[in-house]
Amino acid sequence: MEPIIGIDLGTTNSEVAYIIDNQPEILKDNDNGILPSCVGVDEKGAILVGVAAKNQAAIAPERTVLSVKRMMGKDQKIPMGDSTYSPQEISAFILKALKERAEKSLGKTIGKAVITVPAYFTDAQRQATREAGKIAGLDVVRIINEPTAAALAYESTRSETHRILIYDLGGGTFDVSIVKIEAGVVEVLASTGDNHLGGDDFDRQIVDRLLKYCEEEHSLRVDSDKDSVIMARLKRAAEKAKVTLSEKPYAIIEEDHIAKKGWKDIHLSYELARDDFEEMIENELSKTMDAVNRALKDAALLPSAIDKIILVGGSTRIPRISKMLEEKFGQLPHSEIDPDLCVALGAAIQAGREMGLDSTSVLLDITPYTFGTSALGDLNGEPCMTMFVPLIRRNTKLPASRTEAFYTVYDNQEAVEIKVYQGENPDALDNIQIGKYKFQLSRLPQSSIILLNFDLDINGILKIEAIEKATGRKINAVIENAFGSSESEMAESRSRIENLWGGEEKTDLKSASPADEPGMPDEIAQTLRRAESQIDQVSAEDRDEMINLIEDIGDAVRENRMEDAKKFAEELEDILFYIE
Ligand code: AMP
Repeated sequence: MEPIIGIDLGTTNSEVAYIIDNQPEILKDNDNGILPSCVGVDEKGAILVGVAAKNQAAIAPERTVLSVKRMMGKDQKIPMGDSTYSPQEISAFILKALKERAEKSLGKTIGKAVITVPAYFTDAQRQATREAGKIAGLDVVRIINEPTAAALAYESTRSETHRILIYDLGGGTFDVSIVKIEAGVVEVLASTGDNHLGGDDFDRQIVDRLLKYCEEEHSLRVDSDKDSVIMARLKRAAEKAKVTLSEKPYAIIEEDHIAKKGWKDIHLSYELARDDFEEMIENELSKTMDAVNRALKDAALLPSAIDKIILVGGSTRIPRISKMLEEKFGQLPHSEIDPDLCVALGAAIQAGREMGLDSTSVLLDITPYTFGTSALGDLNGEPCMTMFVPLIRRNTKLPASRTEAFYTVYDNQEAVEIKVYQGENPDALDNIQIGKYKFQLSRLPQSSIILLNFDLDINGILKIEAIEKATGRKINAVIENAFGSSESEMAESRSRIENLWGGEEKTDLKSASPADEPGMPDEIAQTLRRAESQIDQVSAEDRDEMINLIEDIGDAVRENRMEDAKKFAEELEDILFYIE
């Protein structure tokens, strides 16, 4: 039986767990099992992950990356030391560390994992998580929602029906979900939250208070963009104070020698009261309660119908949170399974199920988003070019598949552009565009039917297909999704991460150009060089196509299929002509 590990890839901390003797267990490495989700490079260029990276964050913020989970799904480069990395690559370092931890502790090679994500993660963020796994050498067999994993950790063996509310407040994200457990089947009834709300925001509130204090008491004006070392020290001190306030009514924040060039040396000493802190974060906490109300409404349940409340995520240790939930539900929330470990334990239970250890249990999940497209239509009695047409609605059970018919607008229409959105607003432009497909059509009469199918799998990943009904032809589509990486980009990331792992010297990652391939005809080599010089400036769609053609040409020449090489070169020329 091939082992599958369960991973909680958290904003602040990550954990890995595995089923041992029918019980999920956190895998440790001389620690309590918690790996800080921090990645850095030391002065010599070696990669650091976990505590070592966290320890250098205050002194070398430019060489350290924290809270990368907040950047997942963004087309963004993150500077770290002398290089920049995609969010997937940074996350891959964390996953690689967890994979190695599991291999060391179990004494076997691990190639598969179940990874948890916030229920509110978008398609792009889930995709990015999967890519991070791939870059780290892990086949992500299933992505499950964190609250579902938490419910599994508490209730996987319960037989009678039970409705559970999971309140999950971590470092960077907030999720609230209501699940029903019945005879080992977990069904998510509602799920909502906020991707940008968590303990980091509370730390920032304290940091803001400290900055104000530094300015008023010591006339020290800290520039939050430029004074990164001072900011990192204040952030660390703020987090420490916040944690203290979960246990004690007061916290003293002391930082020696907070100074910058040209300023007198300053010793910061500030007392923060719990009441004061709770007032600072009141706004954020009431946002979480709004989401709790929304989840109850979505699940069509009254607070009294909730049998149990589970707390997940480090930030739920703030005493005010339990109090708020107790006031609303008239029952004390549960936190007996460590809120930091509960999700990873649930991921391991699901991993065990994937391995066939518990085949009678099923996991039912829902989509927290509505997915749809835009079309010509009518909005509030006015013609609208961008009317949102939902295909898969929020809270639909996964996997889900829906097909809708659309019509061509005029005779001989050459193409349709199908934009994919997620959101709830009737005007598609108010929703988030997650993809754009262009379909070349046969020359059909007006009002010809185009069938559009959305297929959302159990991991919340969306696939799209369009069919010209009259001809039955499936229309070729390339998604212009700025977030997704191509296979070749991922392979490149993977070898880059492999090379950096273990502090090896950085290598030049550019492979030899196919233009230098022995036997490459001169004119094709020239086309290849032109293509290579353009590749960084073109759209993701063109880049994918160009990379494929460049590889095809290289293969054809190596295998002495010169006619094929010429044909591919012509196709590449066409793209270059269009770009240039
Ligand atoms: P997670 O993303 O679930 O790992 O949660 C990490 C967040 O929980 C960070 O913002 C921590 O500062 C916060 N946290 C951890 N322990 C405590 C505590 N005792 N009191 C308040 N916040 C905490």
